[in-house]
Amino acid sequence: MKNLFKDYPALRSIKLRLTLWYMAAIAVVLIIFGTVAYYLLRNNLYKNLDDSLRARVIELQVSLKIDGQRVMFDQKVNELVMIYDADGALIQRLGPNVQFSNIDRAVAQALFGESTYQSASTPSGPDVRLYAAPHNVDSQTRVAIVVGRLPNDIISMLAVFRQVLIYASFIVLVLTGFGGMFLAERTLKPVERITDIARGIGESDLSRRIDVESDDELGRLAETLNGMIARLEEAFQKQRRFVADASHELRTPLAVIQAESSLVLEKKRPQEDYRTSLELVSQEVAYMSDIVAKLLLLARTDAGSEPVDFQYVNVAALLTELAQDAEALAQEKGVAFKLGPMDSLTVRGDRIKLRQLYLNILDNAVRYTPEGGTVTCSLAGKEGRAIAAFADTGIGIPEEHLSLIFDRFYRVDKARTYAEGGTGLGLAIAASIAKMHGGEIQVESKEGKGTTVRVVLPLADTRAIAWTTPKLKTGKDQD
Ligand code: ATP
Ligand code: MG
Repeated sequence: MKNLFKDYPALRSIKLRLTLWYMAAIAVVLIIFGTVAYYLLRNNLYKNLDDSLRARVIELQVSLKIDGQRVMFDQKVNELVMIYDADGALIQRLGPNVQFSNIDRAVAQALFGESTYQSASTPSGPDVRLYAAPHNVDSQTRVAIVVGRLPNDIISMLAVFRQVLIYASFIVLVLTGFGGMFLAERTLKPVERITDIARGIGESDLSRRIDVESDDELGRLAETLNGMIARLEEAFQKQRRFVADASHELRTPLAVIQAESSLVLEKKRPQEDYRTSLELVSQEVAYMSDIVAKLLLLARTDAGSEPVDFQYVNVAALLTELAQDAEALAQEKGVAFKLGPMDSLTVRGDRIKLRQLYLNILDNAVRYTPEGGTVTCSLAGKEGRAIAAFADTGIGIPEEHLSLIFDRFYRVDKARTYAEGGTGLGLAIAASIAKMHGGEIQVESKEGKGTTVRVVLPLADTRAIAWTTPKLKTGKDQD
């Protein structure tokens, strides 16, 4: 079937194919219906003929007089009537002279006392319908009386019926074709609309949607396509925002460097001024290279080209180690740092990247917690996952920003964070590292009260660890 559609381009239209299938189905129904109707009518007509033959024989029997070899009827006889004597010899024949094949069996059966019907073929023309019946002349003599009729009426009637059937079927088929075409056209109209609209949607007008609203397959198709376009639109918007943010982010330090250098170069200055300026320039350059390094990391992670070195990592050990850095950071800010319960858990991952992930989260917790606050870090295993929770009593994140903080360059309070040196890339990097390890980051926050960030990573298969690194049984971090 597929090849047929390929060979005949005209058949590639669903409309035409639907119509053809529709017509084929109707044709099958018409053939079955026509055949059944034809044979029912035919049987009925022949049964009527047989009944009238029988009635006629009974009539003739009443008016039949046989005197030795002489046969007489009281009434006029037009049809084919034959009388056979007890020996089966034809003694009388009336009506049209039709020759037909032998009817000895029917005659013999009649002489035996049994009536039968028979269709006897004639050399030319249709078969003759015969009825052979016994007739008792007196108590000893029995003859056979055979009445025959040509079923001409039936034959011509059936011929007319056949013709009516054929013409009617043809008309029905043609109407079905047009009807099918109309229906297919109507049904597929939305598909054409969807195609037209989808073709017209380009990168620049991704806000357009397919407005086919029906509660059927086509409605769902439109809905699915709309969902896809929405995701594309979002991805494009994110991309645009990212490029704009990145340029903006780099422009600010560049502007500072330009302003500073032109100011310094304006006239001759004491040695000390050059030193201060160069220190500022160096600071801005460091900031820019930090951004560029982070962007490069994100780009490589996106492309899957960032090299990763998977090992078994004891998360509790890693977090305890990081806690020392965090404690120093916290102390500087006047924030208390506490280590909560730590389950000894092992994940499979890149140690350096995991370190960066946890550090980014810890850095946020300390940075966004004012003096006097507390940051607590704990680790628990649940349902095959290592959940590291970082809870702070800091400024919190307003609900409407929660879904956006993982976007690149996104900061809740942009002005404040630039001054503090934040790039808005920390969580984006943390999220992409978590994703790389088959994990995720969950954030729970109350504005003004504090934030809890949970890093969820799948636990390593401990049987595999025992097999590959038996030393780990001592409980020490092996990487
Ligand atoms: P950096 O790239 O230096 O980490 P950043 O900290 O501004 O910069 P992210 O770590 O990505 O960037 O965080 C994005 C934003 O989410 C922050 O600017 C801050 O507004 C908000 N945020 C993140 N963690 C917390 C937290 N624990 N408490 C309050 N706000 C937070
Ligand atoms: Mg951060």
